[in-house]
Amino acid sequence: MNLRIGNGYDIHRLVPGRPLIIGGQRLEHPEGLGLDGHSDADVLVHAVMDALLGALSLGDIGKYFPPEDPRWRGANSLLLLEQVIGLVRERGWRVGNVDAVLIAERPKLKPHIEAMRSAIAARLGVDPDQVGVKATTNEKLGPCGREEGIACHAVALLTRP
Ligand SMILES: [Zn+2]
Repeated sequence: MNLRIGNGYDIHRLVPGRPLIIGGQRLEHPEGLGLDGHSDADVLVHAVMDALLGALSLGDIGKYFPPEDPRWRGANSLLLLEQVIGLVRERGWRVGNVDAVLIAERPKLKPHIEAMRSAIAARLGVDPDQVGVKATTNEKLGPCGREEGIACHAVALLTRP
């Protein structure tokens, strides 16, 4: 079979004293909050990586970049994405498309969506048209609605010639 699909999910806590980096973009939260995590906590890139790995049943990012490993402290997740796409390519697969939805009440993500798509597409070596990023609020419901965190769902379709 020359098509594979994978899905990924991630969530990080919003905390004071951390940068807010999503899709490789540095954003400003109105309360000055950022995402907590061992790496740069880029929730979008993490969900995309898990979707890519999942499509090939390669496990999840915790397997490749374990949080207890000091190498990944504060890591730029876009560089981790480059490593993940390397695993995909070396197995003969290419990205058909990726689609992701971010769940956040604030800040407004829409102005940054194009930059996020371009950054991810560049690392994946595909056209930005092949990378969908959407943003929604959680209508103030649940942990994302209470702004305790920001979550992301992603799917990836891989093709093999
Ligand atoms: Zn994560």
